[in-house]
Amino acid sequence: MGNQGKVIIFSAPSGTGKSTVVNHLIKVFDNLEFSISATTRKPRGNEVNGREYYFLSEEEFSKKLKNNEFLEHEQVYEGLYYGTLWAEVKRIWADGNTVLFDVDVKGGINIKKQFGDNALAVFLKPPSIEVLMERLKKRSTEVEHELQERVNKANYELSFEDKYDIVIVNDVLEDTFRQCEKLVRDFTSRD
Ligand code: ADP
Ligand code: 5GP
Repeated sequence: MGNQGKVIIFSAPSGTGKSTVVNHLIKVFDNLEFSISATTRKPRGNEVNGREYYFLSEEEFSKKLKNNEFLEHEQVYEGLYYGTLWAEVKRIWADGNTVLFDVDVKGGINIKKQFGDNALAVFLKPPSIEVLMERLKKRSTEVEHELQERVNKANYELSFEDKYDIVIVNDVLEDTFRQCEKLVRDFTSRD
């Protein structure tokens, strides 16, 4: 019962390490479940439909939008839509678990507004823009112009950090893991 209605939001500029941290937390905590978003972007190399995302056509996405199936949605990058489905959130709560969101800054702020004290909004921050660029290059999932678009967007996203409940700088990964574990433990054990 303790997790009913609770959500945890992680937002960060692309390349900060959000997926790395979120995947770690999912492994450590049995009572956390990842909210799989819907997106119109194409799957990357080893991504699987229904695991990282529900990969939808623009038509399918629009149809769900018209049917009010989204809790929130954003055009995160030019022509690419992402959104959280109510069905995901309800499924996770029905399992008695806390929902873990990996969403962009606008989506994160929107979800925080909807859930108030039942939401913990965490902003993960890179140590610097230079480090962010290095991480994105190392991950090498984007072509050059996409990489530039993500770095440009990072500066904009960083201006929203004070809208979050807590900001964590992802410098040494093990330190970030420990800090985030403590946050999740404290929040999920709270009444
Ligand atoms: P995001 O989900 O925020 O876009 P990822 O989790 O994909 O970012 O991380 C981007 C890259 O940076 C990956 O190659 C990941 O292994 C690496 N990374 C994540 N956190 C750290 C860290 N603290 N130090 C060094 N590299 C990191
Ligand atoms: P990527 O294409 O790298 O997987 O994700 C791009 C961005 O979209 C990330 O910042 C991620 O957090 C965000 N995102 C993923 N799912 C959603 C969602 O359902 N809603 C919103 N608003 N953003 C999302």
